[in-house]
Amino acid sequence: MRFVITCDDAGHQPPETQSRADGFFESQGVRASFFAVPYGKSGALGEDKRWLAAAHAAEQRGHDFQLHALDHSVFEFGWHPEWMMAILDEETRRRFAEERDEIARGWGREIFGEKLRTAIQVFEDAFGRRPLVFRSGALSQSAELYQALGDVGIPYSSNQVVNPGGWSYIAGNYDLPLDWAPGVPPRPYQVTGQVVEIPMTGAGQAGSAARG
Ligand SMILES: [Zn+2]
Repeated sequence: MRFVITCDDAGHQPPETQSRADGFFESQGVRASFFAVPYGKSGALGEDKRWLAAAHAAEQRGHDFQLHALDHSVFEFGWHPEWMMAILDEETRRRFAEERDEIARGWGREIFGEKLRTAIQVFEDAFGRRPLVFRSGALSQSAELYQALGDVGIPYSSNQVVNPGGWSYIAGNYDLPLDWAPGVPPRPYQVTGQVVEIPMTGAGQAGSAARG
C-alpha cells in the first residue's frame, strides 16, 4: 500500500512558507501533494507571482498540486463532518443546526458545477493543467458535490477520513475512543460511477496523510 502526504490551503501564504513546507518534506525524503485554494485573501491563485514561482519550483522537484475548494467558505459544498464541527463552540453549532435548511438553499448539482468550473479555470490558469483531485474546504460535502465532480470531469476526491481521532485532539476531546470511522473503507473506492474517493487515514490541523 502506498501512502501520500497531503497539505491543505496552499496558495495564499508568503512564498517562503511554501518553500519551507516542501523543503521540509524533501529533507525527509518525501514528495507531498498540496491542495491549493483557487480564491483566497490575496485574490485568485497565481496572482501572487512569487508564490506561483515557488509552487512551480516545487512541482519541478516532484511535489504535486491539486484543487481545494473554491474560496473555502463554510458549507461551500455541503455540510461539514460532525467530528470536524466539534471544534466550534456549542452556541455556533446550535445556530448552524437551526439554519441548516436555509444554508442548504445554496447547495445543488448545478450550483456546485458552476463553482467547480470556476475553480478549475483558476487552477488551470495558474498551473497550465487541469486538476485531477478535489478536496472541499473543511471537507464540506453532499451527494450533489460528487455528482457535480462527475459533471465537470474531476475523477478523484479526497474528502473522507478513515480515523478522525486526530481531529478530536484539536477539539480538546482526548477521551474519545480512537476507533476507525465505520463506513469509510481504508482504500480508494468508487463514490459514483465517475468519481473515486481516495480517503485520508487521518486529519490534523498541521497537515494530513492520505492513502493513494
Ligand atoms: Zn482547507
